Amino acid sequence: MERVKSSATLCVVIFLLFAVSAMAFVAAATHGLGGGVKLHAAAADSFDSFDSLQAFARALPKAELHAHLHGSVLDMDTVRRIAREALADFAADGVVYAELRTTPRPLRDGTTLEGYARQLLEVFAECDAEAQVLAALSADTCRNSGDLTGALPCEHGLIPRLLLSVDRGKSVDAAWEVVNLAVDLLKDAQYVKYLVGIDLSGNPAKGRFEDFAGPLQHARAAGLKVSVHCAEVYNPPDTQAILDFSPDRLGHALHLTSDALDRVLRNRVPVEVCPTSNVITLGLNGHHEHPTAATWLAHEHPVSINTDDAGVFSTCLSREYASVAAAFDLDLSQCSALAVAAFSQAFDARTSAALLPLVRRRCDALLAAHAGSGAKSEGTVSVGAAAAAVNR
Ligand SMILES: [Zn+2]
Repeated sequence: MERVKSSATLCVVIFLLFAVSAMAFVAAATHGLGGGVKLHAAAADSFDSFDSLQAFARALPKAELHAHLHGSVLDMDTVRRIAREALADFAADGVVYAELRTTPRPLRDGTTLEGYARQLLEVFAECDAEAQVLAALSADTCRNSGDLTGALPCEHGLIPRLLLSVDRGKSVDAAWEVVNLAVDLLKDAQYVKYLVGIDLSGNPAKGRFEDFAGPLQHARAAGLKVSVHCAEVYNPPDTQAILDFSPDRLGHALHLTSDALDRVLRNRVPVEVCPTSNVITLGLNGHHEHPTAATWLAHEHPVSINTDDAGVFSTCLSREYASVAAAFDLDLSQCSALAVAAFSQAFDARTSAALLPLVRRRCDALLAAHAGSGAKSEGTVSVGAAAAAVNR
């Protein structure tokens, strides 16, 4: 009986994985957002424009604040490899500061919950390139250069930070286990700078936020920042409980009542927007249909643009920026302002303070280089053309 049940569960999981991949492919094909997707001739011109917009977005120094490291894997070597690859992919896409999040778990190879977190932090320490990133951003390499790719700091790596995730689909005891582990790790001088926060995520249809407020409050009292996946489904009481807690950032914030929306806007709670993830999971026709992005942008609300899970949603951060710029007709300076804003929402305040002036200068130099290369007049046009392609 148990065996029948587990194979049925496996079938459902495989079906869901297949369905998500299929939806991702359909969305990518429809909107010209997937790498290597063949477009019919009419869209080809616009796709070129989208590419140039993405090249600009790739050259912008960016902060990724909402990316899950999913570990449906059995051994720690694989987790380490996946983490290394994720950090390398972000760096190659012009991300200079990345906060990754993961639910620590015991693995079948004997790795304990604590071992999982420690080994991941070890990978972060190995991949840490703070000095190189600061030096690269300080160097004035964009001046008089129309070649945007020449301004990429990718070869210098990135500054990695970690959030441990609490799964709201699991028990409150399991939440305490993760939070206690995080608080313990803060005492370890070797890892303290890499562990910056706690995330509450998992199946939004399961669990009640209130049940997790205790452990999250404990994490906060220990000096960790807290991000909460919020309003992924319409659940006003849960959303209200989350807003009462005042998380440092909200993930997604999609299905808000007008009261909740007013409250988020009034309190300027930073929101982690994951455009393509939202388009796919909500079954939208394009980024322009995103339920809250236009409102955040219109109010100049503090938001960050993120990938959520670059592998599952076949995306990268520069593509997310280009998609948002195209869908909401942002010009290049607005696009660059979005990139800068994400740094000010980073959970590592010390690093953010060091990065911000350098990132601002780099963005200004990029905009000047773009204008100087004679591409200025094309800037808005190419955004508009790409918008047409994406909204088609
Ligand atoms: Zn998420």
